[in-house]
Amino acid sequence: MTEHTRFGPAGVPPMFRLFGAKLPDVPRLLREEGLDAFEYQAVRWGQKPQMKQEDAEKLGAEARKNDVKLSLHGSYYVNLSGKKDVVETSKRRLIACATAADWMGAYVMVFHTGFYGRFEKSFAFKTCLDALKEVSTSMRSLGLKVKLGPETMGRKFQVGSLEEILTICEQVEGTQLVIDWSHLHAINQGTFKDTEDFRGVAEKVEQRLGTETLKSMHCHFSKIEFTSQGEKRHHTLDEKRYGPNFHMLAEVIADFQLHPTMICESPILDIDARKMRDTLKEVLENKQPKVEP
Ligand SMILES: [Zn+2]
Repeated sequence: MTEHTRFGPAGVPPMFRLFGAKLPDVPRLLREEGLDAFEYQAVRWGQKPQMKQEDAEKLGAEARKNDVKLSLHGSYYVNLSGKKDVVETSKRRLIACATAADWMGAYVMVFHTGFYGRFEKSFAFKTCLDALKEVSTSMRSLGLKVKLGPETMGRKFQVGSLEEILTICEQVEGTQLVIDWSHLHAINQGTFKDTEDFRGVAEKVEQRLGTETLKSMHCHFSKIEFTSQGEKRHHTLDEKRYGPNFHMLAEVIADFQLHPTMICESPILDIDARKMRDTLKEVLENKQPKVEP
């Protein structure tokens, strides 16, 4: 089996930095921990890549050598639903992030689409959809290969409900589905109470985008604290008072035979990524038919 669920951190784990690791060391260190995905954080970037091409290429080469799948989280300073000049700047920021993502060979550039602001929700979404189609066209004319990964968002004022993300994936060329399970949990005031709730999302994705898209989705996961407005803070997997529960998602990954890339966004990035990996392994082993000796 070549396709399997991969696990890795959102950004460089703090311990790596503490021991003086440089960016190109990260894939090897993750591999030593038994992890095989890494999401580079370009979250504060402006309209130009804020890393050298050779550094991005070096990271990419190390990732390939260590079989670590790369993704890049694009700039937070993006609002594709804003006024015209804001949308134009946002498009340039996305292109800058996509350029660097291509340098490193990342398969998806994850990003937040924007805010409703004072606009009608449907109008804000239409503005966003049109802008994304233009970004997709520009990327193709520039020869950029990375997929556009709009993420399900966790706050009420943000564009990016599950419904909106599915629509974007249906209508914009060159997209990759990105499901942030914690955000879905937060925006719906604790939606994932049992395995069935996760299953429901998987079924919806499958109906709208097909089995292959469901199987190869890109995911973010951590425990999350929320208010009536949605997301408040990410928490570690051990914090029992917060949801969602990864074990339930692991059941769905096993039942649907999914192979997502799971990026851990908990405060203890790589440690919880390993915990998630071990949970899935356990779930898969328990589902194996018992063979008589
Ligand atoms: Zn994000």
